[in-house]
Amino acid sequence: MTVKEDISRWVDERRQDYLRDVGRLVAVRSVAGEAKEGMPFGEGPAAALKEALALASGLGFRTKDYDGYVMTADLLEGEAALDILAHLDVVGEGDGWETDPYTAVEKDGCLYGRGTDDDKGPAVAALYAMACARDVAGDRLKKNTRLILGTDEESGSRDIRHYYSLEKSAPYTFSPDADFPVINTEKGGLAGTFRREWEPSGALPRVSDFDGGYRINVLPADAAARVLGFSPEELAALCGPLAEKLGVSLSVAEIPGGAKLSVRGLAAHASTPELGNNGITALIALLNALPLAESPSAEALRALGGLFPHGDGAGRALGIAMADELSGPLTLAFSLFRMTETGCAGSFDSRVPICAGEENCRAVAAERLEAAGFRFEGVMRPPHHTPADSPLVRACLRSYETFTGRKGECLSMGGGTYVHDIPGGIAFGAAMPGFESNLHGANERMRIDDMLTAIKIFAMVIVELCAE
Ligand SMILES: [Zn+2]
Repeated sequence: MTVKEDISRWVDERRQDYLRDVGRLVAVRSVAGEAKEGMPFGEGPAAALKEALALASGLGFRTKDYDGYVMTADLLEGEAALDILAHLDVVGEGDGWETDPYTAVEKDGCLYGRGTDDDKGPAVAALYAMACARDVAGDRLKKNTRLILGTDEESGSRDIRHYYSLEKSAPYTFSPDADFPVINTEKGGLAGTFRREWEPSGALPRVSDFDGGYRINVLPADAAARVLGFSPEELAALCGPLAEKLGVSLSVAEIPGGAKLSVRGLAAHASTPELGNNGITALIALLNALPLAESPSAEALRALGGLFPHGDGAGRALGIAMADELSGPLTLAFSLFRMTETGCAGSFDSRVPICAGEENCRAVAAERLEAAGFRFEGVMRPPHHTPADSPLVRACLRSYETFTGRKGECLSMGGGTYVHDIPGGIAFGAAMPGFESNLHGANERMRIDDMLTAIKIFAMVIVELCAE
């Protein structure tokens, strides 16, 4: 029997055990909550940490609880040659589930439940891979692999910062919190905020307020504005055709002296604006098409319509569109905007390629916004890149190709993972390319056969990097 066959048989025999253990973690609603003694991220994440500690001990691993922030499970004693980073916290369930989000349900070859894909299924897959490597390779394993399970990935990754304030990183680190094959490049970021104030105006018709977006890293579906000096019927007639053209739904409600316009597009992660339809920029386009009187709010909306036109997810109008071979194109999502009778403030989330820097990116955005009369503040975050010829990347791609028969390749992404600040780290799995896991949405799922394959892939990587 080859190592590949040994690994495959070991994993296939444990299908039901694996699904049961993922189910044990899915049953814990580990959404961030209020901090309590020994529970830095609230009761849910703490309960998931406790359950995972029991699970890892049950599989025979030495575990450690780092003050309720993270737990570790070690394959052998001593310094780790390989760290694997995954997380036990989840985002809230939201609406639209066909099954109970906190009961793992097997259906159509998939396991449904909050966290099955992000990231409890992959976390348990990594744990099983360690057990598999231990059982299959036995004494040939000479170096340690450490699984590090965090509880704050979705709310700022304070868990991992705490861990690395106490421990150093291993020479190799991968995080199964994304897709296969290998993501070795994570874009940098530019988080921009701009504002402008003015004297109240009595001009009619005018926009009196605007409210869109709720989180800087989410391209928003919804935005609403109050317009004074038009009847609801007039506004519906003036805005209807353009709303349809922009692909957003429009509702108009009467308010004293005017009407409230609400649009709904499609939400997306800020790093993938092409997958959404931005409610803020759509509503600004609708307002700019109205015959408004001259007023400070009309002027500000015109300026913003010019700098962030609807459909421009590449920062072209802001002058920062760029791309490079390794990381792909810059993306931009205008994600937060508020306006009152005396001013406005907004934010955008841009994911920038390695070639972006202070001079060609932040300074350009600042100059354009300041020239248009806004005060601007922007913070840049550096990108992350691990060379494709690193031994870790090569071992990961080889194992992926061995067990899937597909061609492995290195990819770039806009979202940041746990490894963003870890030298030599990569994101690796656990969803197969093209699979829609509905992560962060309703009916989150993983494909069971794919997850069993992921366990095999991880086990082979552990054997390769930790055996003599
Ligand atoms: Zn995740």
